[in-house]
Amino acid sequence: MLDLARLADAIRYEGGVSRRLFLAYSSALASLPLLATRTEAADRTKFDTDPFSLGVASGDPDATSVVLWTRLAPKPLQGDGGMKPEAVRVAWELAEDEAFTKGVTKGEAIASPVLGHSVHVEAKGLKPDRWYFYRFRAGEATSPIGRTRTLPPAESLPEKLTFAFASCQHYEQGYYTAYGQMLKDTPDLVFHLGDYIYEYPHDPKSKAKRVRQHTGPKDRKIKTLNEYRERHALYRADAYLNKMHAACPWFVTWDDHEFDNNYANDIQEEQPNGAPRTPPAEFLLQRAAAYQAYYEFMPLRKRSLPHGADMMLYRKARFGRLAEFFVLDTRQYRTPQPNNDGLKPLNAEALKNTNTLLGRRQKGWLQAGLLQSTGTWNVLAQQVMMLMAAFPIKGKDDTDDEPKYAMDQWPGYAFERMELLRWLAERKIANPVVLTGDIHTNWANDLRIDDRQTDSPVVASEFVCTSISSGGNSSWINAEAQKVLPAKNPGVRFLNGERGYVRCVVTPKTWQSDYVVCEDVLQPNGKIATRASFVIEAGQPGLKKA
Ligand code: FE
Ligand code: CA
Repeated sequence: MLDLARLADAIRYEGGVSRRLFLAYSSALASLPLLATRTEAADRTKFDTDPFSLGVASGDPDATSVVLWTRLAPKPLQGDGGMKPEAVRVAWELAEDEAFTKGVTKGEAIASPVLGHSVHVEAKGLKPDRWYFYRFRAGEATSPIGRTRTLPPAESLPEKLTFAFASCQHYEQGYYTAYGQMLKDTPDLVFHLGDYIYEYPHDPKSKAKRVRQHTGPKDRKIKTLNEYRERHALYRADAYLNKMHAACPWFVTWDDHEFDNNYANDIQEEQPNGAPRTPPAEFLLQRAAAYQAYYEFMPLRKRSLPHGADMMLYRKARFGRLAEFFVLDTRQYRTPQPNNDGLKPLNAEALKNTNTLLGRRQKGWLQAGLLQSTGTWNVLAQQVMMLMAAFPIKGKDDTDDEPKYAMDQWPGYAFERMELLRWLAERKIANPVVLTGDIHTNWANDLRIDDRQTDSPVVASEFVCTSISSGGNSSWINAEAQKVLPAKNPGVRFLNGERGYVRCVVTPKTWQSDYVVCEDVLQPNGKIATRASFVIEAGQPGLKKA
């Protein structure tokens, strides 16, 4: 149920929202058909078209359980999926084999209209470190078959983990050919680091080529629950993305475009031409819609069920004693970008000790988890670049060549970032590795406590994956950038502006990351290549070229 007391606390805590705005907000929320209320479920529903058009997915596995997902949507591009506003019984089964002759467990779930007829089953009591097959049935319709797995036992030391991570899949700007290659890689797991959808309309003045088009409003960003649902459905219907979800379990986290570009908690980014920002109370109402649609479409556990405008997305996963993953949320709890966002000098505003990307609770949770971790590798799967990258650019108002830093990324929160890196070093957290998305470019970075101190020791390494499709075939990384950025930032070991994802092969002794690129995303089946590979040896911080 909607927890208004908690919401009130949250709003008070975040400050600045008047009682009048809060009351307006809560009364508006009360009229939203939010969380699950079980109603009479129809079990002999007849569908004119396939209700499983969005396929199946699995996610958030642990050693004995995994989330199985589907959504009934005979008309996927309609906000209501083409479903009547009534609950429907959905049967599910999980087996050891694809023919379903060796059944393991099965059950029944309710697809409720209040959650867009999405189904999130937590299949429990499974054997660790096993692959399984699953499917759903509603009325006379049967879903495609999905393949999923559990994680190894907590105390085991697995020999190997293969996983991929990706981000930024603008539907209009390119084909998802990279996911076709990921399918062939048959990874154990996929991590998605955000910008799963894009909320803004095509800008008629932009030169960006469109290979296909968003549905929905043409002259403004999406903002209602049904608009977010429709956008998710459009993206998910892509054949490669859809098949990749069915191929192995995913751990997903969002960045900003799942809701609104460069938002910080309840603060909208600065608006063009000095237009007023959406007031926080109204903005949170919109956030509730965006977060709910995200939950509905992702294979997430019940712990992530949205509460009003809040949703718990940070969590950890343990691949035996080989690797421990900390999936972060750097949008929901952050303070606003200092210096009005953008590329700015690392001044007193950027260095303020009250700037936070994680928020107090998430930071405490992260540090407690890292101290308890038995992982050979400790992985932060998150959104924005942690390297304090100095951009040697001159702004229009600048009179000097003072380097600029991205205020939306960790440098805007440099105090928290340096404190975290210092803590990792002092507490001797084993082999920290940071995975990042957001900036539509590939980077391999060595991280220091303060990256400006280039002769200080390396503490961790960061792999930044490029976009799957966002930006099309072009990039700002030209020959000049290739020369200047690594020269100004010795931590940068690799820089590339193509599209693709990163594939990782992890063993107790080494971590290898391969930068897989798709040379042309404007054609349906662009050529795939591995552009570079980097290795970290356990116990020896720093990247080595493979
Ligand atoms: Fe993006
Ligand atoms: Ca952004």
